[in-house]
Amino acid sequence: MVISRPRGTNDFLPEASAKWQAVEALLRFLCRNYGFGEIRTPIFEETELFSRGVGNTTDIVQKEMYTFTDSGGRSVTLRPENTAGACRAYVENKLYGLPQPVKLYYMGPMFRYERPQAGRYRQFHQFGIEIIGSSAPTADAEAIGFAWDFYNRLGIRDLRLALNSVGCPDCRPAYREALRDFFRPHLGELCPSCQDRFERNPLRILDCKSPVCHKIGEGAPQIYDYLCPDCAGHFETVKGLLQAADIPYVLDPHMVRGLDYYTKTAFEIAVDRIGAQSAVCGGGRYDGLIQEIGGEPCPGVGFALGMERIFSALAAQDDTIETDDELDVYIITAGGQAAKAAAFALATRLRAAELSVELEYGEKSFKAQIKAANRLNA
Ligand code: AMP
Repeated sequence: MVISRPRGTNDFLPEASAKWQAVEALLRFLCRNYGFGEIRTPIFEETELFSRGVGNTTDIVQKEMYTFTDSGGRSVTLRPENTAGACRAYVENKLYGLPQPVKLYYMGPMFRYERPQAGRYRQFHQFGIEIIGSSAPTADAEAIGFAWDFYNRLGIRDLRLALNSVGCPDCRPAYREALRDFFRPHLGELCPSCQDRFERNPLRILDCKSPVCHKIGEGAPQIYDYLCPDCAGHFETVKGLLQAADIPYVLDPHMVRGLDYYTKTAFEIAVDRIGAQSAVCGGGRYDGLIQEIGGEPCPGVGFALGMERIFSALAAQDDTIETDDELDVYIITAGGQAAKAAAFALATRLRAAELSVELEYGEKSFKAQIKAANRLNA
């Protein structure tokens, strides 16, 4: 029997990988432009990092993690996201001792046991940035502006930037209570997940995809009436900065991100044309996360964007990424092994001179070699 790849995973063949590399090159260029340095953290971490960091009440931790016990009896988890890992590394490597903030970026595979569908995979790839050690609204605006800049440089159209504030531990409890008061008379009508969320985290009811919950939620109280002066002032400043940089946003009081660590700013960028999985990027501020995973209190803000969804968005507008895969030289030989040896020696010298070179290994006819050279655009 032929073995196939696991459900929800992909093979990226050279032609596709070349496009990925072009996007990655743009991202790395932007990181230099904006002053971010790369961090590479392990693909698996102690399970507790995610249960504490991402949050026990989230779908990710409750249903979607690839968790196993290793041969040493430790519970480890394939990373479902990289913010918790980056924050762990910040604490563990004492990056708080550097001039603050510390600006990091990562790219790589993430793992979530989700129901696979177009745009949603079990192994997918994220690029993300983290600005750790600043509570300033400018950091929020820079993170949002980075993502906005990136999609615009790629020429992706019909972007929608949704902006919200989810408050902080000072103001959120009162809002949570107001939401419970609002949803209580409708508790029986809510979907089973939302009945569960009612106690655990009623804010999540607001972004439930079920039409019934959505409809009921329309009249819910808005967080803007509950934000404490600090959160309200922060939110106003972030909005002002985005306006100053001509970054158009829409306020979405129902946009509550699926990770527990967010405080104050939350944002999402969507491209509606690409179907149900329209979110291309999500992020926000996470001022409580580092303390949650055992560090000294330290603010942070960042985002993660889905690499696969960049290509869905481009495909949906009939665009693609141009890659430079032209071959410089194709060496055609005739005359058996002596000619092969001469061609091989020549190829080695041309490659040393930074030219891209192909040569025929076998016994293809002269005509077939001319054809191959043409096909490769040599
Ligand atoms: P999140 O870490 O959930 O905030 O997601 C950030 C971004 O990663 C989303 O906006 C998507 O573009 C992408 N993403 C999240 N989950 C998946 C998945 N299962 N498959 C593909 N892309 C994903």
